[in-house]
Amino acid sequence: MARNKLCPQCDIRRFSVKNDAGEIRVVTVSENGKIELVHPEESLDGFDLDTLYCLGCSWKGSVKSLK
Ligand SMILES: [Zn+2]
Repeated sequence: MARNKLCPQCDIRRFSVKNDAGEIRVVTVSENGKIELVHPEESLDGFDLDTLYCLGCSWKGSVKSLK
């Protein structure tokens, strides 16, 4: 199993991304920085992938900031 990148504050691996309508998708980020849907049948079309929101704490930021 590939390792997922983790929140720099609380070390969990699940994040949400949002679109302009305020909808969210739950994602993880692979070790090479690829954003992957937790529910693969969903679509990321129209979602802002530049800002991730941690599901475990108040952290938000870019893929580059994950550890
Ligand atoms: Zn967190």
